[in-house]
Amino acid sequence: VSEPNSPYLRDVLGTIPAYKPGRKVVAPSGRSVKLSSNESPYGPLPSVLEAVAAAAADLNRYPDAAAAELTSALAGRFGVDEDRIALGAGSVGLLQQVLEAVAEPGTEVVYAWRSFEAYPLLVELSGATAVTVPLRGETHDLDALAEAVTDRTRAVFVCNPNNPTGTAVRESELAAFLDRVPEHVLVVLDEAYREYVRDPQVPDGITRFGDRPNVAVLRTFSKAYGLAALRVGFLVARPHIAAAVRKTMVPFAVNHVAQAAAVASLAAEDELLERVATTAKERERVRDALLADGWEVPPTEANFVWLRMGEDTAAFAAAAEDAGVAVRAFPGEGLRISVGAPDENDAFLDVAREFPRRNR
Ligand code: PMP
Repeated sequence: VSEPNSPYLRDVLGTIPAYKPGRKVVAPSGRSVKLSSNESPYGPLPSVLEAVAAAAADLNRYPDAAAAELTSALAGRFGVDEDRIALGAGSVGLLQQVLEAVAEPGTEVVYAWRSFEAYPLLVELSGATAVTVPLRGETHDLDALAEAVTDRTRAVFVCNPNNPTGTAVRESELAAFLDRVPEHVLVVLDEAYREYVRDPQVPDGITRFGDRPNVAVLRTFSKAYGLAALRVGFLVARPHIAAAVRKTMVPFAVNHVAQAAAVASLAAEDELLERVATTAKERERVRDALLADGWEVPPTEANFVWLRMGEDTAAFAAAAEDAGVAVRAFPGEGLRISVGAPDENDAFLDVAREFPRRNR
C-alpha cells in the first residue's frame, strides 16, 4: 500500500514482504486440517490450563518483567545459571532482540536460504545487510556459511533442524564450523524444533555449544510445548549476551499468563515429551508412506516434511486446499507439511497419493 506522500516511512518497508502466517482452509465437506504452521496438534494439558486460569486473575497487573519463576525453572531444567537466560515473545521476538543487540546499517547477517521466513524480514528491518548462502541439496552448507563471513558480519543464523527442509547438521560438522567462525561474529543456533530430533548425532546446542563466547541458542515453547498462542521463547548464552538480549526486549513482552503456562509446561514436561515422541513416530510414518509412493523426501528431524516440487507446488497446494488440508507452499520451490495427529496426516497422505505428479 503506497501513499504518494509518506516521507516519514523508512524505505526498507517498501521492499520487505509482510510475514505470511500459515493458512487455515476449510473444504466444502467442512473438513479443516491445519498443517501449515508446525504447531503441536495437541491442546493444552489440564495442569497448564489451570495455571493459565490462575494467572488470568491478575490481568489488571503488569507481569513480572524479570519473569523470575520461569527463568529459575529454565535454569534448573537446563542446568545453567539464571544470568545465562533471556526471554522473548516467541523465539521470533528473541531473533528481533538479538538483531537489536548486534545489527545496524553497514553490518551483515549471514544465513542459509531457504530457511525460516522471518530471517530476511527481521534482518532487513534491522538495517543490516542480509547475506544468504544457498542450501547444498536440502542441508546447510556450513563451509559456504563460514566463507560468507566478513569483517562486517555481526551474526550468522543456523537453523537446526532447518525450517522448511527438516534437515539437521551434526555435532562434528557444527563444532568444526564454530571453530572457524571468528569471535567478532555471534552464531545464533535456532533450535525451535530441537525436541523432535531423534538422530543422536544432532547436537543439543545448549549443552554442547552454549558455553562458547559467541554462541546463542534459541528455543521456544511454541512447538513441542504446545504454547504457540502465548508467545514465549528463550535464549541461552553466556551472561554478557543474555544481558544484552534482555535489554533489547520490549518491556513486559512475555506476559504473566504465558510465563505461568511455560512454568506449568516445564513441570509437565514428561507428558509433553511423550506427545513429541508420538509426533516423531508419525513423522517417520508419513515420510515412509511418501517414499513408498515414489516421492523424494529429505530425512527430517523436525515436526514437518519437505517436498521439493518446483513448478508443481501451487497445484499441490490447491489440491490439498480442496481436500481441506492447509500446507505451506513456497511457490516454485516446494511444500512444507507439518506432522499432525494420525488422522490429519492420513488426510494429507490421501492428497499426496492422488496427486498426478509428473516426475514422481
Ligand atoms: N525459528 C524457527 C526455525 C521457526 O520455524 C519458528 C516458527 N515458525 C520460530 C523460530 C519462531 O517461533 P516462535 O516465535 O513461535 O517461538
